[in-house]
Amino acid sequence: MESMKQRTVLEIWSSRNAGMEGTDSVNARKHYNAIVVGLGAWGSAALAHAAGRGLTVLGLDQFTPPHTRGSHHGNGRVIRMASPEGAFYTPIMRRAYELWHQLEADTGIQVLTTVGGVYAAPSDDEMIWGALDSYRGNDIAHEVLDVTAARTRFPWLHVKDGETVVHEPGTGRLHPERAIVAHQQLARSRGADIRSSLGMLDWKQIDDRVEITTSEGVYTTDRLIMTLGSWAPHQLRLDLPLVVERQYFGVYDVRDVPGPLTMISLPSADAEAFYGLPEEGRTFKVALHHGGITGATEELPTVVTDEEKQTLRGYVADRLPQFPSEPLQWTTCKYTNTPDRHFVLTRHPDAPSVIVGAGCSGRGFKFASFIGEALADLATNIERPDLEHFSPQRFA
Ligand SMILES: Cc1cc2nc3c(=O)[nH]c(=O)nc-3n(C[C@H](O)[C@H](O)[C@H](O)COP(=O)(O)OP(=O)(O)OC[C@H]3O[C@@H](n4cnc5c(N)ncnc54)[C@H](O)[C@@H]3O)c2cc1C
Repeated sequence: MESMKQRTVLEIWSSRNAGMEGTDSVNARKHYNAIVVGLGAWGSAALAHAAGRGLTVLGLDQFTPPHTRGSHHGNGRVIRMASPEGAFYTPIMRRAYELWHQLEADTGIQVLTTVGGVYAAPSDDEMIWGALDSYRGNDIAHEVLDVTAARTRFPWLHVKDGETVVHEPGTGRLHPERAIVAHQQLARSRGADIRSSLGMLDWKQIDDRVEITTSEGVYTTDRLIMTLGSWAPHQLRLDLPLVVERQYFGVYDVRDVPGPLTMISLPSADAEAFYGLPEEGRTFKVALHHGGITGATEELPTVVTDEEKQTLRGYVADRLPQFPSEPLQWTTCKYTNTPDRHFVLTRHPDAPSVIVGAGCSGRGFKFASFIGEALADLATNIERPDLEHFSPQRFA
């Protein structure tokens, strides 16, 4: 429900829009109620939600998302209810699922496909007890299988002696490029302007507005939402312990592997997990979760080394023995990590008109629909006590 505080802010902003009628072509308008900079998964969602509030809204990106230079490319992202990172994610995930389905209904674009998910590990592994913690008391469909049952059910997967297997049938694959296109399409249909290949060079809070400098002049806005992915660390002017980490993955042709294949998450000696996801067109992506090299986003290498390829091939040979020996493709991508793997979703402590979404920590895509709504709420003065876990004050 719209609060008094929110109504007041919307009234003030709409009075600022008065006189702008007829000048709202993207080239003419220089003041917006909200500007979203960074139109990856999080920013495109924030743009669609902000546009849905009846605000004048602009989205800016230095490239043309979807693209392959950030964190969102590569055909598939896992979505599941299991959140070993904390049981407080369960209601958040429910809302995220709801909003992804709403996006599909609003745009007619399918972004989510149910594929099922299997976690196999010793029962004292966080992957297992964390998943079971998320399900407890929450009416989330799942099964716990012993080794024999799991081997019969998932013959393409090498389940090891002594492992516990958890199956979450509602696990899905989000199509990242399509999700970004869908959110941008929805934003446009709600009146948003989008400028791609236009980077923000600088931002400044001046009184109750923010000035944004680009190579094509200065824009002003009542609220700036920054969702900059791995480019965030040097632009937010927030002392956050963000670390950009390069990840690599292989995409296998699995047309000859009898399925159905599911998402998998398994223990790894080199990283936090070895995981895989069936993609459209009978390919299967495999990767290690974390354990990558770190550095400034533009300086991280995009070539997968022979040593890295050998490591991943070893996991595939061990756990997915029916897969071909060589993938079709090797690719790199980037995580932007916080130390505790929780996100940063906040009003900027030193710039009251600025809203920040950062620290995807390699798990942020599935939450993008929820995060877009949450950032739009913060931008329109709606209180979100459920975001307390994502405050930067936890690093103080
Ligand atoms: C290999 C890999 C696998 C993953 N798997 C999963 C998964 O299975 N499930 C899951 O939930 N998550 C997963 N993630 C994480 C998820 O993809 C990210 O959390 C998600 O993409 C959020 O980041 P983003 O798309 O907003 O960032 P980005 O794609 O990096 O978007 C940020 C945007 O900001 C723009 N930008 C930055 N600075 C400026 C500026 N000054 N001016 C204009 N534009 C600017 C950039 O151009 C970019 O387009 C994975 C990530 C990787 C790399």
